[in-house]
Amino acid sequence: MGSPTLVVVGTGMAGAKVVEEVCARVPDRFQIRMFGAERHGTYNRILLSTVLGGFDDPAKIWLQPIEWYEKHNIFVHRGVRAETIDLRNRVVVGGGGKVSEPYDLLVMATGSRPFVPPLEGTNQAGVFVFRTLEDCEAIAAYARESDRAVVIGGGAARIGSSSRAIEPRCRSPRGRDRFSIDAAATR
Ligand SMILES: Cc1cc2nc3c(=O)[nH]c(=O)nc-3n(C[C@H](O)[C@H](O)[C@H](O)COP(=O)(O)OP(=O)(O)OC[C@H]3O[C@@H](n4cnc5c(N)ncnc54)[C@H](O)[C@@H]3O)c2cc1C
Repeated sequence: MGSPTLVVVGTGMAGAKVVEEVCARVPDRFQIRMFGAERHGTYNRILLSTVLGGFDDPAKIWLQPIEWYEKHNIFVHRGVRAETIDLRNRVVVGGGGKVSEPYDLLVMATGSRPFVPPLEGTNQAGVFVFRTLEDCEAIAAYARESDRAVVIGGGAARIGSSSRAIEPRCRSPRGRDRFSIDAAATR
C-alpha cells in the first residue's frame, strides 16, 4: 500500500507552514498535493506594502517559492481553485471539474477574502482590493496614471502603510507637494 495522501487547499502562509512541518517531522509519510488559487509559490503577505511602495527587494517576500515545493515532491495545482469536496468519496475537485485529488487527510488553509463594504461604485475601474501580489501590480499600474488615491479600511496600522506605499507610485505632474493621499477608516 502506498503512502496516504495529504491534500492541502491554499498555498498561503498557513498552508505552507503545514506542509513545511509535515516535511520536517514526518518526511515521506504522506504524498502531498496542494491547490493554490494564486499561481505562484508562497510569499509573506504581510510585506505586500513594501512591494507596492517599492521600498525593498521584492525577492525578500518569498517564503516557499514553487521550487521549494518541487524539491520536496509536493505537487501544487498552481492557479487552480478547489471548488467541491466530495466527502463521501474523499475527493477534492477544482478547476471547473478538470482537477480532482483523492485524499486521506485534507487541510483547508484558505485564509480570508477582503471585505468590500456594500458601497455604490466599488465595481468601477480604479477601485481595488489589496490582498495579493496581483493586486499590487494592478494598483501600481493604475497609480502611474493617477494623482490622487483614497485608502479605505485596513485598520490603524495598515491604513498608514498602504497610503505610504501608494504615494511613490502616483503620477506627479506638478511635483510631490501635489500628491494627495487620503485615508479613511471603515467599520
Ligand atoms: C497588506 C496586508 C498586510 C498585512 N499585515 C499584517 C500584519 O502586519 N500582521 C499580521 O498579523 N497580519 C497581517 N496581514 C494578514 C496576514 O497576511 C494574514 O493573516 C495571513 O496572510 C493569513 O494567512 P493564511 O495562509 O491563513 O491565509 P491567506 O494568506 O489568505 O492565504 C490563503 C490562500 O489560499 C488560497 N485559496 C483560497 N481559497 C482557495 C480555494 N478554494 N482553492 C485554492 N486556493 C484557495 C488564497 O488564494 C490564498 O493564496 C496583512 C494582510 C495584508 C493583505
